[in-house]
This record gives sequence, C-alpha cells and structure tokens, in this order.
Amino acid sequence: DRVEVYAAHMHEDVVRRLEIVSDLQRAIGNGELKLQYQPIVQLDTSRVTGAEALVRWSRGNQLVAPREFLGAAEESGLIVPLGEWVLREACAQGAAWRRSSWEVGISVNLSARQITAPGFTALVAAVLADTGLPPETLTVEVNERILVAADGLIIDRLAELRRLGVRLAIDDFGTGYASLAYLRQLPLDIIKIDPSFVAGLGHDDTLTLITRTVVQLGRDLGLRVVAEGIEQPRQLIALREMGCDDGQGFLFARPMAASGVEALIRTATVDPDEQPVSECETTRVSG
Ligand code: C2E
Ligand code: MG
Ligand code: MG
Repeated sequence: DRVEVYAAHMHEDVVRRLEIVSDLQRAIGNGELKLQYQPIVQLDTSRVTGAEALVRWSRGNQLVAPREFLGAAEESGLIVPLGEWVLREACAQGAAWRRSSWEVGISVNLSARQITAPGFTALVAAVLADTGLPPETLTVEVNERILVAADGLIIDRLAELRRLGVRLAIDDFGTGYASLAYLRQLPLDIIKIDPSFVAGLGHDDTLTLITRTVVQLGRDLGLRVVAEGIEQPRQLIALREMGCDDGQGFLFARPMAASGVEALIRTATVDPDEQPVSECETTRVSG
C-alpha cells in the first residue's frame, strides 16, 4: 500500500557518502585535517581578542569546506575523533599564542554527537590540562538548533563544561527557533547572531530591529553578543551604534592559517577604516 520513488542520484549520494566516510577516516590519521582561524574582533576597539577554529580537509589538492563532510562525519560517528583532534589542535594553538603574550581566546565548534560521547567532559578537562590553556579562555560554540532540541544529557554536559570554567556560546542565533524565555534557562555566556540578520543591517528595517533587540537582550541577560558575517562597513557602523560587543566577518578577516592570524595581530588592530585586510590569506574552499 505504498509507492516508493527511486532516482539514480540517490544511489550516487549513498556511494559518495560512503567514500567520504572511508576517506575521512584515513584523513584523520594522515594529518589531512587543517584548522583555519577566523579573528574575533572587539567592535569598539577593533582589537582581535579571539579566534574561532574552523576545520578544513585538505583532500588531494583541494581544501574542502566543513559543510561537505561534517554531515557524513556526524552520521558515521567519525565526528568524535575528528572533534577531539580539532579541540586538541585549537587549544594547543591558543596556549602557544598566549605563551607569546597575546591575550587571546579560542573558540571551538561542537556537534551533538561529540557532546554526548562518553567521557566528553573528562576529555575537555584533559586537553586543557595537557595544553595548559586556561579554561576561561576556551569558548565552545553550540548551534542553536542543537540547543533547542537538546535533551537532558546535552544540557548536563554543557553545564559540566561550564563548571570547568569553559565558556559556552549559542551559535547561529536566530535560525533555530529558540524562544527568548528558553535562552534564560541555558547555561550561556555568549550569543552569536546569525549572519542572515547582520546581512540586513542598514537596509532592512525588520532585520535591523531584530538585531538591535538581540543585542539589548544579551546585555540584559549579562551575556556577550558577537555578530557574525560582517561584510560591509554599514553593518559594522550599525552594530557599533547598537553596542554589540564583538564581531567576525570578511570585512575584518577571512578564516586563515594560524600564521596569518599572527601576521594580523602584529599589526595590533583590524580596523577596516585604517588598514587594508588584503594581506590576509583568503580561504580556498570547494563548492
Ligand atoms: P559557524 O561556526 O557559524 O562558523 C562561521 C562560518 O561563517 C564559517 O564557515 C566562516 O568561514 C563563515 N564566515 C565567516 N565570516 C563570514 C562572512 O563575513 N561572510 C560569509 N558569507 N561567511 C562568513 P565554515 O568554515 O565553512 O564553517 C561552516 C560551519 O561548519 C560552521 O559554522 C560550524 O557550524 C561548522 N564547523 C566548522 N568547523 C567545525 C568543527 O571543527 N567542528 C564542528 N562540529 N563544526 C564545525
Ligand atoms: Mg561557530
Ligand atoms: Mg555561526
């Protein structure tokens, strides 16, 4: 009593996913994963105060973007070893930067499967101890969609991480239907406003109003607010005027290798009014 539809691309999709999983498994052991870092800038001073680690897969001579392989990694469970590699690498880099007397914070993205993997809190504690990164300088970013759907285990784990001293950010805020009341119950430190809101600043009244409201809400709740996807000077001007704390986006810098970030901080600030950002390495990602 049913109809099933088959299209040739469904088979191809399955085969492609299986290939990705087996190649990725090898990639984790082979050093084919790389991290790029995107500077996080304090908006009122234009100082780089942090960097978000973003994973890349250097597959053959192509740099593959996370959206191409994170889904398969999550489904297959490979996200657990992959995420551990990212966490260690990013914390080690952050600790090295701090030893060179740069007061930087490091942000790492987490997936649901990683958070619920056995022993995750102990793993984070061990990585912090091994690398010497102070817990309060590590921010873990969790997508709003994960938090909205989160069961007790995820919330408990995130609360454990905060007890270690680690900070928690809700990523892509505004896209996953988190109710504002819900926000108050989560163990949060930082709200990251989704780029889709920032894109409308200065020409779309509704998006501008929503952004202003979220910035105000963050302040009232005692949270830091980071705006993501700042590409235009008018967006930066609007966010500064709203009192948004921090920002990230191509206007300041693209994600880049650690060495690129170091070159950038030697110039102290990344005020787009004062200096070109053209010396930054640009991301070459497929797709
Ligand atoms: P995200 O955590 O929200 O990271 C921000 C994404 O926006 C990055 O894409 C970054 O390159 C891009 N971006 C930054 N500034 C701008 C801008 O001004 N304009 C535009 N159009 N884009 C901008 P990326 O690196 O492709 O990462 C996509 C997503 O993949 C991330 O979104 C995050 O959810 C996930 N991801 C990345 N690395 C990891 C990881 O190590 N672990 C996990 N679990 N997820 C990761
Ligand atoms: Mg993020
Ligand atoms: Mg985001």
